[in-house]
Amino acid sequence: MALDDYPYSAHIDDEPGIASFSRRDLLKQGTAAVIGGGATLLGAPALAQAPAQAAAGQAPAIFTQWRPETAGQRFRALVRHRNSLDVQQLTLNPIEPRQVVARVEAAQACYTMVGALNTQTPAMNAAVFGHGAVGTVIEAGPMVKRVQRGDRILVVVTGQCGQCFQCVRGKAANCQAGFNRPPVIVGTMADGTPVNGNLGGFAELIVAWEEMVVPIYSKHDAAELSNLTCVSMCGLGMTMVRAPIESGSTVVVFGAGPIGLSAVQGARIRGASQIIVVEPIRYRRELATKVGATAVLDPSDFADGAALIARLREMTVWVGTNPFGGGRNPAVTGPDYIIEAVGGERFVPKAERYAREPHGLEVLQNVFTLCPPGGFMRTCGVGYPMNSTVTFPAGGWSNGTKNHMGGNLAGVQMMRDLPQWVRMFETGQFDGKSLVGVNVPLERATEAVEASAYRTAVTGIVSFPQT
Ligand SMILES: [Zn+2]
Ligand SMILES: [Zn+2]
Repeated sequence: MALDDYPYSAHIDDEPGIASFSRRDLLKQGTAAVIGGGATLLGAPALAQAPAQAAAGQAPAIFTQWRPETAGQRFRALVRHRNSLDVQQLTLNPIEPRQVVARVEAAQACYTMVGALNTQTPAMNAAVFGHGAVGTVIEAGPMVKRVQRGDRILVVVTGQCGQCFQCVRGKAANCQAGFNRPPVIVGTMADGTPVNGNLGGFAELIVAWEEMVVPIYSKHDAAELSNLTCVSMCGLGMTMVRAPIESGSTVVVFGAGPIGLSAVQGARIRGASQIIVVEPIRYRRELATKVGATAVLDPSDFADGAALIARLREMTVWVGTNPFGGGRNPAVTGPDYIIEAVGGERFVPKAERYAREPHGLEVLQNVFTLCPPGGFMRTCGVGYPMNSTVTFPAGGWSNGTKNHMGGNLAGVQMMRDLPQWVRMFETGQFDGKSLVGVNVPLERATEAVEASAYRTAVTGIVSFPQT
């Protein structure tokens, strides 16, 4: 079916007098109207009124009849506002026709979001904490086609509308709708302050535009799946999607937080022969071994990055590939794939003391230096310090046949990839349980944020009792 013929009738069939229609019909009749943030298409009875209404800036009949049932509901959320980060009672705003409301089951606190703990700096706009959620839809607007009430969903941090130029050419991680979506002002605080929902799952209710939602048909544990809305999606994307690791490959992973540990599992699932993890915190190295690393290195054991790189090269010798060396003295060494899952250091870990923790620009430089000709570098750390610059030798960068693919959720197409990855959680192929660290109820939500910020646990997760 051509895109223009796609019927927009889902979920409004039970409205009296509203039949199926198509975008082409509307264009033919010259009655297409746009309200709010998205294209709004009208039911047949409304067609005759539409031009006059659009001209007058009024909502067409179908949406003046529709009233969100959930508007006005009270719910609790962890809110960052002014100099505080605490649980607030909020009142839900009416959703838009292309939004859904879900009752949250679990949500994770990725390191991207932990800056919210810095409450000395006032946050002028109130926002719900979090980055994605697992939940169940309690209301879907009349324009929503992807899910219905009762569906279990992942609310994820990169969108896939399926219709924008980026989506139709297979680059959904850059979905224009996902990036250009208006903020969701989810509700108000007791004093009337508007609160940005911010895709934050540390709340009993979450509101999201349709393109940020993936239906899952799984009863799998919500806390485990909550990592898939951000960190595990990133780690699996780096190893399984845009540069999928070949069986027998050698892989080095910098960082064994939840992204790195998910990357390790992606490499294992793809059949890598060597997965070497570099991580300064002992319990994280142990977790890496548990979920598939074949060797772990503590950067504290090396005087500097050069010494670490030398050791990694020794460990990833391309045995027998130099026909002039008789299997010895190989011409080139280094891993086939290098995954950077370190990022910057915004909070000094309280996990344990160690001598050295390479992070930020140092690791980006190390990744480039270590990468052999023909190798792949996958990086995802947000650059810290912000607006800093990393420099590489010009020849190596322009002509070294080093393949770099940056993050931004690593080429993931959530509607295609996440259902498969949920299945890997279900079958045990992906060990989701080992990636659940601190798991607390909402009233203890800051403990989950602190666990992530100070790295005292592999992840900080908030779970909500389901009635
Ligand atoms: Zn995140
Ligand atoms: Zn799109």
